[in-house]
Amino acid sequence: MDYKISVIGSTGSIGKQTLDVAENLGIQVEALSANSQVDVIAEQARKFKPKFIAMGSEKAAKDLKLAISDLDIRIGWGSEALTEAAAFESADCLVTAVSGSVGLKPTLAAIAAKKRIAFANKETLVCAGEIMMKRVKECGAELLPVDSEHSAIFQCLEGRGKDQLSKILLTGSGGPFRGKKRAELENVTPAQALKHPNWSMGAKITIDSATMMNKGLEFIEAMHLFQVKPDDIQVVVHPQSVIHSMVELVDGTVIAQLGCPDMRLPIQYALTYPNRMASRSEHLDFTTLKDLTFEAPDFENMPCLRLAIDCAKHGGIKSCVMSAANEVAVHMFLRGELGYNQIYDVVEDTVNHFDGPADDIDVVIEADAEARKYVNSNYGK
Ligand code: NDP
Ligand code: MG
Repeated sequence: MDYKISVIGSTGSIGKQTLDVAENLGIQVEALSANSQVDVIAEQARKFKPKFIAMGSEKAAKDLKLAISDLDIRIGWGSEALTEAAAFESADCLVTAVSGSVGLKPTLAAIAAKKRIAFANKETLVCAGEIMMKRVKECGAELLPVDSEHSAIFQCLEGRGKDQLSKILLTGSGGPFRGKKRAELENVTPAQALKHPNWSMGAKITIDSATMMNKGLEFIEAMHLFQVKPDDIQVVVHPQSVIHSMVELVDGTVIAQLGCPDMRLPIQYALTYPNRMASRSEHLDFTTLKDLTFEAPDFENMPCLRLAIDCAKHGGIKSCVMSAANEVAVHMFLRGELGYNQIYDVVEDTVNHFDGPADDIDVVIEADAEARKYVNSNYGK
């Protein structure tokens, strides 16, 4: 396939699966980035021969230089290098596979460079959705969802005008603690929360899936991507993750997208759209599929989801503050510095502390930084 991509966050779960898709389809990889995993990116560099690699720190860049000194690949580090990799001149498409709002500026740079963006890094849209969507329109860039639910919704809406849409049915597995009471989760350890029933993902999003903050972030992501209001989206718990989401049309018809839970499918579609190509993913066997079940989310025991919907309805910087506070709280939990239920408590407290409009990118970036500072100074060790 005569197509060139850059991947920021290539050493993570989405990044590795993107490179698997690229290998299968013969897509040329122009630029890569990682934070600190030198061994993994050195191996990727040997296999895909990119022109440029951005690392998170000077030390990581030096170590990588040593590891691949026999290859003719330019190496940079820090935020400027990450932005260069994201908007890499010769790439047609950027895959945003970094985790967290660190992807915001690089993604905006790729939008300004009119790239297609295969968009996984949901925190950026939660943080600055209105600004990003406006920039996409102004610049004539293209934002295609990689998140499986949003890819499903995008596919269900293909070829339809917005006037045909009644509501979006955003499905979620409910995570490993579905059916549990909040009081029962008091002593949950990172190892327990990292066991997702259906998907294998990076640590941060796996914890978000357990608290259902992930569904909350996806709710806000869907509002921006499909330009709908909070009341147009209904969250439906579907533990088997076979239906990846649905849309209900005005006449009552429901259209769903189904497939095996394999992120390579939505990644591939974002790269090949509007074409379809054979993939390495398993195909569904309907004769062995049974018990596709659905239930309402438990807002009381999964309060992160409720909080995210409240922030979405409130507007302004609340969603950005929530996502930033959540990022810090989740990493504290993963390091054993915060209890599981405290993730919600910390995020709620931080959300209550900040308010204001989010109409300027510098305001949003400052809100993100202030929320992080607040969590670190009030709850950090
Ligand atoms: P991972 O944690 O597995 O990977 C994160 C990647 O980002 C790694 O390459 C990491 O580098 C890099 N990175 C992390 N922090 C920084 C930083 N400060 N500066 C530069 N690079 C950094 O995440 P996932 O692949 O699970 O998720 C990526 C994004 O995709 C998230 O926004 C997530 O919500 C979204 N997503 C993920 C899904 C999944 O199935 N995993 C599904 C749907 C959406 P290093 O390896 O060196 O640390
Ligand atoms: Mg998802």
